[in-house]
Amino acid sequence: MTALAAFERYPLLFGHSPVHPLTRLTEHLGGAEVWAKREDVNSPLAFGGNKTRKLEYLVADALATGADTLVSIGGVQSNHTRQVAAAATRAGLKAVLVQERWVDRDDGEYAEVGNLQLSRMLGAGIRTNDAAFGIGYKRGWEEAIADVERAGGRPYAIPAGASDHRLGGLGFANWIFELEEQERELGVFFDTVVVCSVTGSTQAGMIAGAALSGKDRRILGVDASAKPEQTRAQVARIASDTAKLIGVKRALGVSDVELDERYHAGTYGVPGESTMEAMRTFARTEGVITDPVYEGKSAAALIDLVARHEIEPGSKVLYAHLGGQPALSAYRELPF
Ligand SMILES: *Cc1c(COP(=O)(O)O)cnc(C)c1O
Repeated sequence: MTALAAFERYPLLFGHSPVHPLTRLTEHLGGAEVWAKREDVNSPLAFGGNKTRKLEYLVADALATGADTLVSIGGVQSNHTRQVAAAATRAGLKAVLVQERWVDRDDGEYAEVGNLQLSRMLGAGIRTNDAAFGIGYKRGWEEAIADVERAGGRPYAIPAGASDHRLGGLGFANWIFELEEQERELGVFFDTVVVCSVTGSTQAGMIAGAALSGKDRRILGVDASAKPEQTRAQVARIASDTAKLIGVKRALGVSDVELDERYHAGTYGVPGESTMEAMRTFARTEGVITDPVYEGKSAAALIDLVARHEIEPGSKVLYAHLGGQPALSAYRELPF
């Protein structure tokens, strides 16, 4: 814990994110007891989300190195870039955001509402380009960084999802220790955590944190990238790097990563029937809202695995709700 606690954080969260039981969903599914931990309500900043938790570490580093502009990248309806814009504002920094064409849509509204509207309201500098979905290194991002430098600014580069970054896994490594505190207070233990995975450092951080803690707990990633080989490799790499950084004794690798490929519905950013059904079920049993890009897909996995008893009845499962609701208005055509 000490190596992890030694990293500086710039406070962007309310404190511990809430943990609560989903009793009606549990009853509806008839298997394991289902609870949630809520990163969708973790912060006072622009609806928060999982990236805000990661950004506590990156923003502290940006300030320590004298940067004045956060430069990041994502899809047009990226939750991540919206959270970068809010974090920059809170920390007294500027934000430049590269928004790419990760989802193949031509309706003009998709690029004006939801997260992009919020990022504009937050005052971020927004640059759009036509590059397709990918979690790797991007030229548009490199150009934006160079442009900030050319204009006399001091950029701090944040990759997609704040994942492929030295400090990207720390937020969710620490999440494990926060969860353990909450488990002690509540008198429960969650055997399984279900978590959506795309750029990878949320799941990777959890894997590294759990390895440091030593408690035997299943971190079940649900792929929503529809490119699971890339996501699995990235999760493994970030888990391994984060584990080294926080002083885990054993080396982590791809065998430490469990990534379920059955629920991504074929395309990043496009919901399938199981996604839609899961979004309805969460909303209509618990009043909990999920999005069609990420959380609807991990919700579909949770529902299916608990209902079919692939997650053991008698166990307790924690759904990590990572946010994403601000994208919903960009998907107004979805038939609920
Ligand atoms: C980014 C995001 C994810 C995926 O997290 P990664 O760390 O990129 O794997 C899941 N859900 C929501 C709402 C997100 O914004």
